[in-house]
Parts: sequence; structure tokens; C-alpha cells
Amino acid sequence: MTEQAFRQEEQLRRELVRFSRWLSRLGFTPGTSGNLSVRLDEERLLMTPTGISKGLVKAADMAIVDLRGRLLAGTRNVTSEVGMHLAVYEGRPDVAAVVHAHPPTATAFACSKRALDEMLCQEAVMTVGCVPLARYATTGTQEVAESLGPHLAAHDAILLENHGAVSYGSTLLEAFMRMETVEHLAHVALVAHQLGSARPLLAEQVKKLESAKAKYQHNAEGHSETTCVSVNQTIGLDRRGVPA
Ligand SMILES: [Zn+2]
Repeated sequence: MTEQAFRQEEQLRRELVRFSRWLSRLGFTPGTSGNLSVRLDEERLLMTPTGISKGLVKAADMAIVDLRGRLLAGTRNVTSEVGMHLAVYEGRPDVAAVVHAHPPTATAFACSKRALDEMLCQEAVMTVGCVPLARYATTGTQEVAESLGPHLAAHDAILLENHGAVSYGSTLLEAFMRMETVEHLAHVALVAHQLGSARPLLAEQVKKLESAKAKYQHNAEGHSETTCVSVNQTIGLDRRGVPA
């Protein structure tokens, strides 16, 4: 292994520990549930092993697996949910990191057979958009990959019926933040409906936000204006966020 590859692997091990602990502190991975993975190279993934608390997992515990889910290196066993991760990497070649967790409110939506498909707050449109519900699949079986298939191309986070959620992105941070957002959106939806007067965004408002999001992404890729100014302008607000 080259020095650079060694350093990169060490860095990814530390990141897996960091985001595992973060998920654990948020209460998204009770017991030994949940798992995280990241691409090590074109043929291998680095991932959390089975049967360990995400609050206690260490860098040395991580498993290296091939794209068929077979253990290549590591002292602990591969999670039975590896197939879920493999399905995401196969369906989304742009993805480099996958997070699977059981955040309580999002999981409650998944257990009520409800997708997060109501655009209640602006953040929903600006981040993960609609979060679909993958049909029920027995954990650890091929059914999981089949249930995710129809949703992978158009979404970056998916609820798993009677199970939990999976999110993914180009980095572990991005995948983690998407999971955090899914739980936030589920909580907002729950409370808004408990209040009894939830008012989803109007189609026209969603359209403006989507165009703001497109500009935001364009700017984030290294173009001039700051995101806040650009987003505000698109949705008709001035630099301070006040209606123009
Ligand atoms: Zn699970």
C-alpha cells in the first residue's frame, strides 16, 4: 500500500468513527443498530462491522469489504445489512458514502407506511426534497436491494418501511447531514400535524425554491455570489432576507 493510500484509509477510519458517534449521540442508532460505509477505492468499501454500538466503535474495528460484501480485512464480521449499502453504490455510481440508521421519528413515519412527501418547510425543498418510502423488505436479504431500486436515481435519502432510513452522498458528512435532515423533517411534519393546521408550501413557492436550490448548487460549485444572497434574490428577498 502506498503512503498516500495508507493515510487516506486512516482518515476514512477516523471519519467513520466520528460520524458513528454523532449518530449515536443523536439517538439514531440505539443498541448496535445502524451502519456506515465509505468507498475506499473502485473495488472496496470501508464500513462499520456488525454487533457493536456506534458510540463505542473504534477505527481498528472497521471492516474492508469487496463489492460483493465479502470481508477482505478486519477482525470483526460484516454487517448483514451490507446488501443495502451495495445496492446504493451500484445504483448510484456518484455516491461515495452511505449511512443507515433508525432515527425515531423518521422510523415512526416508515412504520406508519408514510413517506415524507409533503413540502411543509422550505428546508425540505432546499435539501433532500421528498423522501420516498421503500416497500417492506426483510433486513439482510436481497429484498432490500430490490425495494431501494426504484427510488435510488431520483432521491438522496429513502425511508425503509417498518425499519428505518438510508441516506447517501459524495462524502460521509453529506450522507450524515441528509440523515439528520430526514429526522428533522419527520419531526416537523409530526408536530405540524399534531398542531392540526399544517399548511404545505404552494406549488408556486416550491417552484421558486427549486430554482433557488439550482442556483445555490451552481454557486457552491465555485461561482461568485454567496449562497444567501443568491437564494434570497431568487425567492424575492433582499440581501437581509427581507421581501424586496
Ligand atoms: Zn437497520
